[in-house]
Amino acid sequence: MDCIFCMIAEGAIPSTRVYEDESVLAFRDINPQAPVHILVIPKTHVASADEITEENSDIVKRIFEAIPKIAASEGLTNGYRVITNIGEDGAQSVKHMHFHILGGKKLLERMA
Ligand code: 5GP
Ligand code: ZN
Repeated sequence: MDCIFCMIAEGAIPSTRVYEDESVLAFRDINPQAPVHILVIPKTHVASADEITEENSDIVKRIFEAIPKIAASEGLTNGYRVITNIGEDGAQSVKHMHFHILGGKKLLERMA
């Protein structure tokens, strides 16, 4: 097992958890890019959103059901951004699918 987000999901690597249910975990990014920067992951390993199929897409539903709850609990009443990076050109550094929640300030409009 060499996936750091699987180890975080198992509790083998500590993290600051902000939300958890049977299939989804959210924790604070170790290197925050905004006042609120949370990572939302499936507890089971999926390499990236490019691996989503009819067979495993339920986890995306569960993640996106969790995101508004997390945003509300973080006080993101004026909006926020959700990003998932995919592969080399997408600048994905951790190969376990994750959705960044960024907020707590007016974010820049640029996408790249
Ligand atoms: P990516 O570039 O793959 O979309 O984002 C990976 C994110 O994971 C980065 O924002 C990075 O700061 C965060 N990260 C990497 N290692 C750890 C860790 O061990 N703990 C936490 N909480 N965040 C991490
Ligand atoms: Zn993993």
